[in-house]
Amino acid sequence: MSDCIFCKIAAGEIPCRKVHEDDELLAFHDIRPVAPVHFMIIPKVHVASLADCDEAHRDILGRILLLAPRLAAELGLGNGFRTVINTGPGGGQEVFHLHVHVFGGGGPRPL
Ligand code: 5GP
Ligand code: ZN
Repeated sequence: MSDCIFCKIAAGEIPCRKVHEDDELLAFHDIRPVAPVHFMIIPKVHVASLADCDEAHRDILGRILLLAPRLAAELGLGNGFRTVINTGPGGGQEVFHLHVHVFGGGGPRPL
């Protein structure tokens, strides 16, 4: 997806504050954090949203969720964190490349 900002970040064409990178995933700090620690985990492969995932994405979705607590703990969120996946315009999604927000450090707050 040549016009996708997260594909460009995954390709190194747009800089980011990287948290983690492996063969399939990239994690980087959100440019507009809503908490003292706020990063997101994305698959390097383009998939627009959670609603666009199917069986072929099962492994990558599992890897993203397993990575979240590991990176959160590394960034000081060992006491807990929130994960958010905005899906579609009705879900407040702004960037249409699947991403899982991970944030915390600002104390508890209601949904
Ligand atoms: P969404 O509303 O789609 O779930 O969240 C998109 C998120 O991407 C927003 O929190 C926004 O701050 C973040 N974002 C948008 N553009 C960039 C960018 O170029 N770099 C980084 N690091 N974050 C971005
Ligand atoms: Zn993309």
